[in-house]
Amino acid sequence: MITGAEQKRAQERAAQMIRESGIRVSDEEAERIEVVDFGLSRLDVEGVQVLTLVQTERLSVKVLALFTNQTEPEHWHPPVGEDPGKEETVRVVSGTVYFYVQGENTFEHGFLVEDKKEHYTMRHEIILKPGDQITLQPGEKHWFQARDEGAVMFSFSTVARDALDQFTDPNIVRIVKVVD
Ligand code: ZN
Repeated sequence: MITGAEQKRAQERAAQMIRESGIRVSDEEAERIEVVDFGLSRLDVEGVQVLTLVQTERLSVKVLALFTNQTEPEHWHPPVGEDPGKEETVRVVSGTVYFYVQGENTFEHGFLVEDKKEHYTMRHEIILKPGDQITLQPGEKHWFQARDEGAVMFSFSTVARDALDQFTDPNIVRIVKVVD
């Protein structure tokens, strides 16, 4: 869970990062940036900030902001009914993103979240700089991380059903609880 104050602070910080990356964000959009702590209550360590630009029954466009040393936990997008699951392209706008997917262990520049190594099983490292992008197939496990300067990314995908995403860490709850 996060507090209302924590949520507001994170929204403002994310909006500033997104604007500095060159993407226009209205005040109304800034106020609805989703602050996701994955139910772990340590947003700065494991979390992500999400601004949804387009969400229809078929496609989704989001801007993702990761703070310094923030990690989006390992997850995958499972099939839902007739849909094989979300296919997603992540394109970096600013900062450097350390991306981990299935493949040979080339882990070098990122870090594993303290005491959570078993929940980060993908160790094939792909370093993405501004203008670089990666396309993930439905069901493909992935996690990613920003280091010193944080990062801003676009996510272009088929329909997103975030609440149904699956995570390696069984403690994760995708629905965010805001308390005061
Ligand atoms: Zn994903």
